[in-house]
Amino acid sequence: MYDRLPYFYITGGDPILHPDFWPLLELLAIKRIPFTLMGNPFHLTDEVCQRLKLLGCEKYQLSIDGLEQTHDWFRKPGSFQTTLEKIATINRAGIRSVVMTTVSGTNIHEVPGIIDAVVNAGVNVYAFARYCPTSEAKDTGMAPREYRHLLEVCDARFKAYEAAGYDTYFNRKDHLWTLYQYETGAFKIPEDAQPGMIYGGCNCGNCHMTILPTGDVYACRRVQISRVGNVFEDRLADLWVAELEQYRQYDKFKKCSKCELLPWCRGCPAVASGARGDFYGVDPQCWKEKNDITGEALI
Ligand code: SF4
Ligand code: SF4
Repeated sequence: MYDRLPYFYITGGDPILHPDFWPLLELLAIKRIPFTLMGNPFHLTDEVCQRLKLLGCEKYQLSIDGLEQTHDWFRKPGSFQTTLEKIATINRAGIRSVVMTTVSGTNIHEVPGIIDAVVNAGVNVYAFARYCPTSEAKDTGMAPREYRHLLEVCDARFKAYEAAGYDTYFNRKDHLWTLYQYETGAFKIPEDAQPGMIYGGCNCGNCHMTILPTGDVYACRRVQISRVGNVFEDRLADLWVAELEQYRQYDKFKKCSKCELLPWCRGCPAVASGARGDFYGVDPQCWKEKNDITGEALI
């Protein structure tokens, strides 16, 4: 589309188990399209990882959602140890290993321990994202200040590992890191920032979309109400230009539109939408109370 080289994140379930998995990767290799896999550790061997590398796999992302007992309860017995072991298998093939944690009230206190475990296992990249509430569970179980405290604890841990010379890259992925770093002085609003410009933050509607095996296209895979069309019926370019416009109405954000960090943050609308059914609603973990430039109250 528009002569741009796309980047694919392929996920499942476990994508390796799909009957078209290897033919799809061969197609990507022929077209020289780079990709990341997000899957399980169970079918990774040296042989499989070398084959993935040959076909252009740049990163392989695994999940760890708690320390051993919690993670194995979420997944299956033995999964925690297998995941840690497979980090080395991925690294040996020259693919970047990534571990992602989905944080909720259930595992928030285990995140520092997860960081220690994955760093010691030699992971290349570590990040966490917040659990998106579903229709059954409307709450992530984390108060805004409790989540801020997690960022503070993790920031100190990340810096300690960096200072000690560990190679792990800590991806401060959640956009609420921008708020945290704004408060600590690590992020400053650039002096040459243009009014009305979007510089970063939530990627929904501005640099990615999700395609399901059914062909359904979503603005974001974590926003359950964001279906915009189907690749078997619609041109992707049309969906991108027209349908996705409904996710670029930045002045509709109830709280963020009044916040000076709007161009760099907007929290996670998937979490807001999961909690209250409103993409433009208030991010339930955002702790910011006023615009520090105008003094206007945000809530
Ligand atoms: S109000 Fe929105 S833009 Fe501002 S810090 Fe909170 S989530 Fe980020
Ligand atoms: S809605 Fe959340 S998960 Fe989706 S792109 Fe935005 S920040 Fe990322």
